[in-house]
Amino acid sequence: MKKILVTGANGQLGSELRELSVHYSQFEWVFADRSVLDLSDLESISNTLNVIQPHIIINCAAYTAVDKAEAETELADVLNHQAVAVMAQWSASHACRLIHISTDYVFDGNSSTALDEEAPTAPINVYGQTKLSGEQACLRENTEAIIIRTSWVYSRFGNNFVKTMSRLMQERDQLSVVNDQIGSPTYAADLAQAIMTIITHTHWQSGIYHFSNEGKISWYEFALAIQEIGGFDCLVNGIPSSDYPTPAKRPHYSLLDKSKIATTFGVVVPGYRESLKTCIELIRINSCN
Ligand code: NDP
Repeated sequence: MKKILVTGANGQLGSELRELSVHYSQFEWVFADRSVLDLSDLESISNTLNVIQPHIIINCAAYTAVDKAEAETELADVLNHQAVAVMAQWSASHACRLIHISTDYVFDGNSSTALDEEAPTAPINVYGQTKLSGEQACLRENTEAIIIRTSWVYSRFGNNFVKTMSRLMQERDQLSVVNDQIGSPTYAADLAQAIMTIITHTHWQSGIYHFSNEGKISWYEFALAIQEIGGFDCLVNGIPSSDYPTPAKRPHYSLLDKSKIATTFGVVVPGYRESLKTCIELIRINSCN
């Protein structure tokens, strides 16, 4: 039986994979949080992998605090780059498949058309730079690895835009959301399903792939969709990013083109509204329990 190791097991994507894993009982699953596999302890990674001996690693762990990364550059680089290099080396030398998750923040945001996997990268913040270094180290150390870039991830697990907006829309009469950053959200459950479609596909094809939900929206439009689907009575105002300064700059346009993952593996890319509706319903059910 093939053993799948999921790192960052308690994050959004790790938690969705745990939910999904019950439908994939042909695999033995190991869910590792940082108490089992601490990626900031670079020396310990190979030892832990030697003990677990996975056949497939899905690396969901990362330093994801985009604004804090501007100050915690070293830690972000250790987790998003150096630890990835160690996992890629180990997997290459142990015939282990590696799926690593990256981000739309490897792009500078100056495009005006959907970004495919060949589009030039030029990160504009520390998080994006460390994730790009991680991608490069990953493919350098393990040419058989698969990297999936995703964007604006949300789930019923963890903290994210959907949960924050839902809470604020119940607390406030109005709120302001930036309307000049364009992309597409990703329901982590859909990404988890995409990963399992790849793993169970007959052919493994290494390289970089893009995955998010279908749709092209701003954060403001995303907030409007949350308000409408959630049935919240709150005025949502669109504002320019210049009115909402943050420590880390964000790309103005980072819409991912998903054609490659769809044609290579037959991955289904759901529209953002239907997935948002599913997630909001699950958040509601959870809060009632
Ligand atoms: P989360 O922030 O929800 O989860 C990240 C996980 O990494 C957490 O479980 C966290 O553990 C774990 N982690 C942090 N530090 C360490 C450490 N030292 N050792 C081991 N584990 C650690 O991220 P998502 O699930 O949202 O993201 C999954 C992937 O998608 C990441 O690669 C991310 O970069 C990428 N991505 C995410 C986006 C987003 O909007 N969230 C957008 C684009 C890409 P703990 O729970 O203990 O803190």
